[in-house]
Amino acid sequence: MIKFKRVTKIFPNGFVALNEIDLAVAKDEFVYLVGASGAGKSTLLNLIYRADLPTHGEILIDNFALSAIQEDQVPYLRRSIGVIFQDYKLLPRRTVYENIAFALRVMHFSRSKIRRQVSQVLELVGLQDKMNSLPKELSGGEQQRICIARAIVNNPPILLADEPTGNLDPDTSWEIMQLLAKINVRNTTVVVATHNKEIVDAFRKRVIALEKGKIIRDMPKGAYV
Ligand code: ADP
Repeated sequence: MIKFKRVTKIFPNGFVALNEIDLAVAKDEFVYLVGASGAGKSTLLNLIYRADLPTHGEILIDNFALSAIQEDQVPYLRRSIGVIFQDYKLLPRRTVYENIAFALRVMHFSRSKIRRQVSQVLELVGLQDKMNSLPKELSGGEQQRICIARAIVNNPPILLADEPTGNLDPDTSWEIMQLLAKINVRNTTVVVATHNKEIVDAFRKRVIALEKGKIIRDMPKGAYV
């Protein structure tokens, strides 16, 4: 599903953020991407949804080479990849419902389909009763749940999460990871970049460890170490 072939990312200042990465993530896998700050985790995720391009090497999503995608096709690629971040990035003056529906409006879904899908996804994340709230009226954990709902409302086959629990307390972090695991079971490939050692150790999923832009460990049911 996601394949990196000798992928290198060198930033314009000459910094080598990823160095000849070879990687294959199968459909419906759950992967933790770990490593110290600056190891290259965000850079790797950015390349998957083509927020950035590699300097060398090839990235394939479903055997489709990202380098072959024309600029005007990029939005279609992005529809198949949901992304969540540490800092939520919700629209502050829009309700929860509007924040989630927005993605579907852009795709010209009908009103009734939007209503149905938003309601289903709010139920999945357990926040139906917050539909008319503004983001600032929610806790950090609730805001992250809304971001997850927004990222998966059109059922993308891939979900990327960049430090999704970075701003949350341990209990809430745990709940968010359980939610991501639940989404994974619903036929979604999930890649989570995280610093959260306790959670990675407890979940026992595949762990890919980066250090200075290189994969130093790839363990099927790993631990953070
Ligand atoms: P992580 O997510 O593991 O903390 P990042 O992928 O964000 O690491 O960053 C990897 C390295 O690349 C860091 O040292 C960072 O400073 C550097 N970096 C990220 N973006 C740029 C950029 N646009 N220009 C130069 N260096 C960058």
